[in-house]
Amino acid sequence: MASFKYSKQPLYYAGQQQITSKTFQTIDPSCDQPLAEVCTADEASINAAVASAQAAFPSWSATPPIERSRILLRAVALLRERNDELAKIETDDTGKPFSETSTVDIVTGADVLEYYANLVASGGLNGETTQLRPDAWVYTTKAPLGVCAGIGAWNYPIQIALWKSAPCLAAGNCMVYKPSEFTPLHGLQLAQIYAEAGVPPGVFNVIQGAGDVGAMLTSHPSIAKVSFTGQVSTGSKVASSAASGMKYVTMELGGKSPCIILPDANVDDAVNGAMMANFFSTGQVCTNGTRVFVPQSLLPAFEANLVSKMPFIRAGDLMDPSTNFGPLVSKTHHAKVLSYITHGLDNDKAKLLAGGPGHPVFTTQANQAGYWIRPTVFTNCTDAMRITREEIFGPVLCILPYDDSQPEYLDVLVKRANDTRMGLAAGVFTRNITLAHSVIARLDAGITWINTWGESPAEMPVGGWKLSGLGVENGRKGLENWVQNKSTLVEMGGSVATVFSKL
Ligand code: NDP
Repeated sequence: MASFKYSKQPLYYAGQQQITSKTFQTIDPSCDQPLAEVCTADEASINAAVASAQAAFPSWSATPPIERSRILLRAVALLRERNDELAKIETDDTGKPFSETSTVDIVTGADVLEYYANLVASGGLNGETTQLRPDAWVYTTKAPLGVCAGIGAWNYPIQIALWKSAPCLAAGNCMVYKPSEFTPLHGLQLAQIYAEAGVPPGVFNVIQGAGDVGAMLTSHPSIAKVSFTGQVSTGSKVASSAASGMKYVTMELGGKSPCIILPDANVDDAVNGAMMANFFSTGQVCTNGTRVFVPQSLLPAFEANLVSKMPFIRAGDLMDPSTNFGPLVSKTHHAKVLSYITHGLDNDKAKLLAGGPGHPVFTTQANQAGYWIRPTVFTNCTDAMRITREEIFGPVLCILPYDDSQPEYLDVLVKRANDTRMGLAAGVFTRNITLAHSVIARLDAGITWINTWGESPAEMPVGGWKLSGLGVENGRKGLENWVQNKSTLVEMGGSVATVFSKL
């Protein structure tokens, strides 16, 4: 019998761990070994999880926001206390180095929970009052939606779970959450932390399984809203199914974002930004700036600087503090990213500047049996290539040179940058701040950066344009996606205005 590093992972609903007979395995991507057996939800357990959330909703939604806030802030404290323990679990499950999970994944999740707990305690759920006449006014209130489904991707498992559950619970909703089958381990941990903090049974529930489980959950008639993070193709299936039940949706989907280096940029800063935009989390970040537009006038300096910094990407033992580059999340995803690299070489005929197929150079001891890949840079890329048109979701940076010798170069550049069906993120690097704002204003993307890349604090609403999504997460705006509006017109004039009072 196989031995696992982690005990069998149950589902969690009605405030209790729930065992099912069917299971699947979660795999350590750094060495291709099973980590744990995970219970798979079936129709009966999905119904039971939704029913437990429905039962919890009346009381949780009626709990004053300041009391909900106190409970959620206790969960924030527990998350921070257990940061390293949770980060190790995320490292095992995702293959991301501990240097990253211990400083980003739990931290940014806890920050968002703290943000919404504080927001609802300080009037964030208040409506508006409009005086219509001296004796009449309109007021609005914000009501929670009910039982919501959260569906997570595998690249930021606990962070995604927190970015969804924080505003959901703070607004008075209950949630049934399904992690990706590739990274299920955080689910039980988070459910236990919420319970320990005082979140009542049924308010936050976890079911596990693959896409079919997600589909059953999101099409459940008692689900009021679906908050989904994943690929555009899956998102459009989920959104269609939600539309037939008139459910609210938030869709956080993929991207093919432009990272624009303007001719006056500081080359060193621009290269640092482009590297963050392509190699952090082994390139498995939705907002990655994978199309790096570099002016011909800077191309030699940019390429030389980039090549000189590639050795700073260090693959190795994931717990070693100097390791900053892990394997890809799964065997399937590894095969997919590798096929794009091969396609870039053989079919697109892009010029390989660094990396390519094969294992990365390991700076410390690492198990080579995992889903490792080399950080790869292609240059002389064009807009028509498959590697510059499709989301690869791996460490593949494509340099697209542009001619900056003509006065109208900016118009051409902006047109090229916007020539994609996705619109998640975009960014510019320049020393001219006026130019930066005017270029940003012309880019079709929901998340933009000037002279930086990737930071996504709790205060910043994030969401995609075009095929990259619907709605936003985080910031004040993010809370609006978890409530419905009620408007009330109050007449104090003593008589009801009517056209039927006389013949
Ligand atoms: P997928 O779309 O493959 O899966 C996302 C989630 O949906 C998983 O939990 C998956 O389950 C589940 N699922 C699959 N089919 C269905 C279905 N028919 N109904 C309901 N749920 C379903 O995405 P990935 O996990 O591969 O994530 C990578 C993608 O996520 C990239 O495109 C990336 O850009 C995007 N992403 C977007 C972010 C954003 O904020 N915009 C942030 C992070 C990632 P299972 O995995 O178990 O099959």
